[in-house]
Amino acid sequence: MSEIRKLANYIDGQLCPPQGRRWLDVFEPASGQRFAECPDSDVGDIGVAVQAAQRAFPAWSATPIAQRAQFLNRIADLLEARLEEFAQAESRDSGKPVALARRLDIPRALSNLRFFAAAATQFSSEAHATDGAINYTLRQPLGTVACISPWNLPLYLFTWKIAPALATGNTVVAKPSEITPLTAAMFAQVCMDAGLPPGVLNIVHGSGQRTGQALIGHSGIRAISFTGSTRTGAAIAAVAAPRFVKLSLEMGGKNPTVVFADWEANEANWATLLRSAFSNQGQICLCGSRLLVQRSIYENFKAAFVEKVRALRVGDPQDPASDLGALVSQAHFDKVMGHIALAREEGGTILCGGDAVRLEGRCAGGWFVAPTVIEGLGADCRTNQEEIFGPVATLIPFDGEDEAVALANATNYGLAASIWTSNLKRAHRVAARLESGIVWINCWLKRDLRTPFGGVKQSGVGREGGVDALRFFTEAKNVCIDLE
Ligand code: NAD
Repeated sequence: MSEIRKLANYIDGQLCPPQGRRWLDVFEPASGQRFAECPDSDVGDIGVAVQAAQRAFPAWSATPIAQRAQFLNRIADLLEARLEEFAQAESRDSGKPVALARRLDIPRALSNLRFFAAAATQFSSEAHATDGAINYTLRQPLGTVACISPWNLPLYLFTWKIAPALATGNTVVAKPSEITPLTAAMFAQVCMDAGLPPGVLNIVHGSGQRTGQALIGHSGIRAISFTGSTRTGAAIAAVAAPRFVKLSLEMGGKNPTVVFADWEANEANWATLLRSAFSNQGQICLCGSRLLVQRSIYENFKAAFVEKVRALRVGDPQDPASDLGALVSQAHFDKVMGHIALAREEGGTILCGGDAVRLEGRCAGGWFVAPTVIEGLGADCRTNQEEIFGPVATLIPFDGEDEAVALANATNYGLAASIWTSNLKRAHRVAARLESGIVWINCWLKRDLRTPFGGVKQSGVGREGGVDALRFFTEAKNVCIDLE
């Protein structure tokens, strides 16, 4: 039995245990074994962290932008030097294939840091000349802000928030997911090695109920940037709204993948479609979990798709041959299996998968689920309405463009969609009609960090990325100069 690793908070430049000495178990999803403990911090820890961040704010906000950018770049360089170690840790903590963490999660964390380091130096604001006066806009940092992130892309989404917050001169109290705290805990050491001044970034670990709640309820917090479930987003909004705290909410999805008969069914496109449904075991908020397929190609599409899904390998995340690793936790495994049972009850036909996968050896106790494809369910049943967030996709036929749009829009969510067609006019027409914050045409998860990122309806409020993130983390002040 290997030693249990004890993770620490990072407050005021120091690694420290939680004041209340309460700890949460951290599990390796591939083995089901506990391997670490993370602090379950309370209102006392949050208080100390917010105070440290407030003390650090005057100097950090007055630090020239180029120097703040240098800190972020230095952190990125040190992180890059440890890329393999971080990829291994991310895989161990979350159950995702290490190859995915190596290719996607950690490189994207580097890009987030470097992108916002550069973006902040290029940030500009408006001037409005009028008769007899000139107005200009100052965009100033807010103060101390809270960044709360989920478990599915741990370091990727953690850095996606803290990088723009820090680059624009705010100080941060960040709370990573208690289910996957490892890389954020390791990130603290990287910040210390980079010489980041104490208090500029504070990382406080713990459960949503205890630590998260204390953070969002703290009167010193000027803005909350949250990514996670719609349910938690609603709870955060209920606390923040009466206090008029600035909010950015990135939440769940039930994303449609709309495949028209004239789509180009080549190998590259098939591979992207498969990735869009099953990457990270379907635990990406942008995954297409409802495949709407034009009826004239439906049967052929179904046969080919199911064959390809059957060929996906579920296995040890360490094994380079594994396409899918483990689901993140026992609770999430139970939730996904519950949804598959519900789909059966609702009258759905399981075309492939539908079961847990039992592996041998070190992964015998892991939380693995076979990639699952379901058909025969109406758009309004729970299976097609509720976010499952696992390796489960449904197939739904449609006849024409209007029906495709109606089905695509027939959920409370509106995060992302992809459209597959070789008809350019149709692609633009349908993109404009989808109730979705992001639409990919003949591609998926092709990201340019300058673009607005976020959802509509119950998927989100506000946008991240590029100038939207820089604006979120600053307050606009109009200054009017009389010229007369
Ligand atoms: P979650 O809402 O359970 O938790 C997210 C974070 O919020 C965690 O750090 C958690 O500890 C914290 N939290 C929970 N309750 C809290 C409370 N009352 N106050 C303050 N903080 C609290 O979500 P999850 O299960 O970690 O993540 C999966 C969800 O995230 C899915 O719904 C997925 O779609 C969504 N997600 C959305 C995006 C996006 O960009 N829209 C990206 C990734 C994941």
